[in-house]
Amino acid sequence: MWDIISNFLFGAIFAHLITRIPFLTFPRLKTWNEQFTPHPEAIPVDGHLIQRVLHMRMFYWLGLVFAIIPLFFGWFSLRYGSASLGFGMWSVSCWLVITRGTAFISKESAPWTKDMAIELQLIRNQCDSEQSCCNIPHPVWQITAVRCINCGSTLKSMLRPDLGRPRQDGKIRGLVRLLMTDGRPIVATEED
Ligand SMILES: [Zn+2]
Repeated sequence: MWDIISNFLFGAIFAHLITRIPFLTFPRLKTWNEQFTPHPEAIPVDGHLIQRVLHMRMFYWLGLVFAIIPLFFGWFSLRYGSASLGFGMWSVSCWLVITRGTAFISKESAPWTKDMAIELQLIRNQCDSEQSCCNIPHPVWQITAVRCINCGSTLKSMLRPDLGRPRQDGKIRGLVRLLMTDGRPIVATEED
């Protein structure tokens, strides 16, 4: 009985990890982050940030492609090895495919969206225009909003998701937090 449960859990955790590999690893390489302020500091709203939001969005959806790996191993295991291990892999990867698929259809927002990138670009345009908040606008994305650090005005209330910078809250804690939230902002935790 216990080995069935542990095999199932092992398969489920394996599938969960594999499907999160893209957004957990690729953007966090050191050379990919030299142009950004370190986590969790406010991040300037510039072209690099907008590109990063679009990259995070791509890595998020790439999780669906990575779901093929546990689906394959799960099928293999169901057929030739441990049924509970395979079932664990299948249930988590199928769940991911179903939830992301329905979220896509119902237009429920992912942690990173194209609209978010457009919104940031609009803020940049506004800062470059005559309607800017002050003479030397310098918009940065803080945890809960985009603000100008020159004049202090709030340009847009917008919770900041994880942006793929190497996290300062410890490798393990940061990893667990990302695995549980999928990069969505949790204000209370970030402010702790
Ligand atoms: Zn300003």
